[in-house]
Amino acid sequence: MPLFTPGRRWQPAYFPFKREPLSRRLLAALERAVKGPLFGCRMCGNCLLQETAFICPMECPKGLRNGPCGGSLPERCYVDETRPCVWYHIYKRSEAMGRSDKLLEVLPPLDWDKVGTETWGDIVSQVRRVGVRRTVGGLTSRNPAQRAAAWDAVFTPVRQPHWWQGDALYHPPAYQEPISELERRLRSGEFVVTAEMTPPLGASAEKLVETLASIRGWVAAVNFTDSASAMPRMSSLACSAIAVQQGVEPVLQIAARDHTRTGIQSEVIGANALGIRNVLCLSGDHARMGAPPYGRSDIVDLDAVQILWMLRRMRDEQKYLDQRAIKTPPRLFLGAAASPCASEARFQALREQKKVNAGAQFLQTNLIFDIERLETWLDALARRDVLDKVYIIVGVALLKSLKSAQYMHDHVPGVRIPDAIFKRLEAAGEDATEEGVQITLELIAALRRFPGIHGVHLVTIGRENLLPRLIAEAGLAPQTSAVI
Ligand code: SF4
Repeated sequence: MPLFTPGRRWQPAYFPFKREPLSRRLLAALERAVKGPLFGCRMCGNCLLQETAFICPMECPKGLRNGPCGGSLPERCYVDETRPCVWYHIYKRSEAMGRSDKLLEVLPPLDWDKVGTETWGDIVSQVRRVGVRRTVGGLTSRNPAQRAAAWDAVFTPVRQPHWWQGDALYHPPAYQEPISELERRLRSGEFVVTAEMTPPLGASAEKLVETLASIRGWVAAVNFTDSASAMPRMSSLACSAIAVQQGVEPVLQIAARDHTRTGIQSEVIGANALGIRNVLCLSGDHARMGAPPYGRSDIVDLDAVQILWMLRRMRDEQKYLDQRAIKTPPRLFLGAAASPCASEARFQALREQKKVNAGAQFLQTNLIFDIERLETWLDALARRDVLDKVYIIVGVALLKSLKSAQYMHDHVPGVRIPDAIFKRLEAAGEDATEEGVQITLELIAALRRFPGIHGVHLVTIGRENLLPRLIAEAGLAPQTSAVI
């Protein structure tokens, strides 16, 4: 990736909230002039070039600081096709430089107080602090080892040496008994079925309640999407609360796109009080995937990894992000999305490992049609020693026509449908639902053979009435969904 790409869509640097002294503003202007063309720096004030092979990730339209989204491809960014995926290039260069392990460092939420301000002043004092040693006589001398450490510190983020520092380690959950029915089933070794429901467009919950009644007992839990494709609908929180009332265990989905750190912490505490235990943390589709007039999308407070990191600490350390104690901490079974078919499987596996380190206990994958590709991804996860730390639930969609399959293949990030499936749907004619059912059953049968897979996540896109049939014909016992 060239360091400087003329003609790329111009993006403004972030600007500071407070007026800094003239000397610091001049330093900031100089820093921007140098680091902008060299690294694509956008003056986030929380420099992380050390972790990202010296390419600034702030060029990612989603503002992701902890790795690529599930739509990442070698060729281009799925949000803005005029540019490459900056995260794909970060992964490639990290690999070439032998610095891939640096990508595992979980970077906590941005400190917005530093945004737009210079970092060189901090770096100089850091270098001086590490690289200069005072002798007994008061003279200054340099120790070579300390000097090397000092130069390494040039690109090391200047962080507060306390609680909000991230790390690259795995943190097992700090509790013993399962928190939700979904977790209990997974722990017991059951091959689970979860289902996905798109929330209603209007304020009536009548149809939702009806559908929940028809699938109660057939699925272990139901996911409610959070304004998928950046299109507003009934909230995932409201649907999850209704599901609890109906005796169906929900998976609350939270998309970072529409939330701030304050909003997410409050929402999760409230959701927990309503009996919601399973939470799937997502970065969310970009606002540009929605409809015009487009909302502001250049400022994103959090990404999925940061939400996981924050919620795990709320649960296990019993503290809000600002360190206030939580007397009754939320009981959360935390999940994340995974995208086995995006970019390279080994890059995705690294991203998944980072999510698991941050707090993900289960992964629900993108829709899978290509079993070979899934196998490659599972191998990559095994090499990273992740498989015994997370439950994997694979997304399987019911295809209803050639047209819907083509749409999914072309427009849903991270979804790839092999030619053989297209040919079968084409031969089935306009309404290919029956062929779609057979394809789904074959996929479920193939997935059950993998020891690293713990269940399927069925996406029937408005045909939830077919769920009981799919589950029965796949030979998966009905799953009593008792909310605990
Ligand atoms: S494809 Fe995703 S991760 Fe890559 S630059 Fe675009 S939004 Fe960011």
